[in-house]
Amino acid sequence: QKTPEKFTFQAEIKKLLDLLSHSLYQNREIAIRELISNASDALDKFRFLSLTEETAKEEQHLEIRLEPDEENKVLAISDNGVGMTHAELIENIGTIAHSGSLDFLKNAAGDEKEEVSLIGKFGVGFYSAFMLADKVEVLTRSYQEESGWKWESDGTGAFTIEAQEGLERGTSIRLHLRKDLDEYTSDTRLKFILKKYSTFVPYPIKLGDELVNDQPPIWLEPKTQLTQEQYDGFYQYLAHNGEEQARWHLHLSSDSPFQFHSILYCPQTNLELMGFGRTEHGISLCAKRILVQNDNRDLLPEYLRFIYGIVDSADLPLNISRESLQDNTIFRKIQKVLTKRVLSHLASIAKDDEEKYLEFYRQFGSSLREGIGTDFENRDAIAKLLRFPSSKGASENELVSLETYLGRAEENQKQIYYLGGHDFNTIAKNPNLEIFRKKGIEVFYLADPMDEIVLSNLAKFEDHDIISIDSSEVKLPGESEEKVESEEASEKKEEHKEPVSPEFEKVLSLFEEELKDDVESITKSDRLTDSPCCLVMPEGAISSQLQKVLSMNNK
Ligand code: ADP
Ligand code: MG
Repeated sequence: QKTPEKFTFQAEIKKLLDLLSHSLYQNREIAIRELISNASDALDKFRFLSLTEETAKEEQHLEIRLEPDEENKVLAISDNGVGMTHAELIENIGTIAHSGSLDFLKNAAGDEKEEVSLIGKFGVGFYSAFMLADKVEVLTRSYQEESGWKWESDGTGAFTIEAQEGLERGTSIRLHLRKDLDEYTSDTRLKFILKKYSTFVPYPIKLGDELVNDQPPIWLEPKTQLTQEQYDGFYQYLAHNGEEQARWHLHLSSDSPFQFHSILYCPQTNLELMGFGRTEHGISLCAKRILVQNDNRDLLPEYLRFIYGIVDSADLPLNISRESLQDNTIFRKIQKVLTKRVLSHLASIAKDDEEKYLEFYRQFGSSLREGIGTDFENRDAIAKLLRFPSSKGASENELVSLETYLGRAEENQKQIYYLGGHDFNTIAKNPNLEIFRKKGIEVFYLADPMDEIVLSNLAKFEDHDIISIDSSEVKLPGESEEKVESEEASEKKEEHKEPVSPEFEKVLSLFEEELKDDVESITKSDRLTDSPCCLVMPEGAISSQLQKVLSMNNK
């Protein structure tokens, strides 16, 4: 008998383990959810392989088993999935590969109440085992190997691996429960936890001999037969984010020209706004109920990455590779339909209840607006969903749509105006606004540079040019063509200039002499009411605010 090999955890994992072992009592049950979810993933992988690879052909009854041993205070969670090789053990449970997991640590270290339940989202769910156990054994045999391994750790900084004979294919996690956590060998307690978190796991979960989950796939059922509780339960299972209920859901079914079923969920909160880095895509793709991919990134565009859900189509081949999915016609059609349906659902929320839509927009508007630059096919639909602060609002919290803006503009206003700046109140003081205020023309106040990029990118909405008011292209409603020309800076139009008194001419040349290295030209303006002068951008130039942002990025 060889002595076990010894390894030490990465520094990050040590930190994580320390955090978890001091976790709050009520958080601890999520460890069961995480271990079941890993077992389910391992079964998915095996099922998928058995469709494609020769070595895995021996398809058999795939299941998850919970075996509580009250006497020895051990809870074992087992699956007959893919298992792990020696190398996989070291790589999968011993190092942190996911970049997101460091974000998790940063956030969770401060305030563990909420964030610990997010552990599964950051690729470190396995370690939650140490919330329940002061010793964890992983007994595993890979589908590729004849014999298996035992991994063991007390969660203080090191783990060992040794060869283990007599193991079946799959993995068994043995939790040696911490003092005072005997309840995790109680059937009643375990059933409660399984019902709460694991009802929708697509494999039988057995507690002893009893089957504890027997939920049919709800996305295949007709909408009218489903209750809000069922939708909520499925959401909790899919999203794993601690939310009881989604902001909204969309249940889609179609039989022709191609068949698919889908339930999509919008979360309550945007994790990206909480400083968790970029959200991972959360759409599971199934073909004939069998999971093909649980983090598909192509069914919905990047700018809708916050949506969770499932898409199931009987018209997709089961053993399709990730690469060839993109070339599959049905896949691409489903893609199109989903995006359009999400956008039209958002439009209908806005139509029914603008306040409710704004609550959504405050969370996810920052992602949604990215679509203007990337999804040309749905540009108009996305443009209608955008909201911005404006001069008609009391603060940056009052957001207005482009349609509302045009709806209350004068008939003869041919342009849509915006102005960027550091913040709402600073923008409101910009002298360029004086004439707009005097004439009662609405201007979007864009303190967020991304909003400005989006609007300048959009450039036009319903035949109206979208213009920054510090641009010389501004044509105020009712202003005659000649008068506009007189404001323009180019020399060619010199002769059109309005007559300027000789005294004022002197003032202008004085300024010109003084500033000739800094400005293109200096002209008389009728747009100012209180301020003596202001800066405008030559035709075709980007706004001054945007220039500042861009030059910042270049440093
Ligand atoms: P994630 O599930 O997000 O990848 P985890 O920390 O929960 O992160 O698990 C880490 C990895 O350990 C998994 O990706 C998987 O490769 C491996 N693993 C964990 N549990 C099992 C299991 N029951 N069977 C096979 N592999 C497992
Ligand atoms: Mg996991």
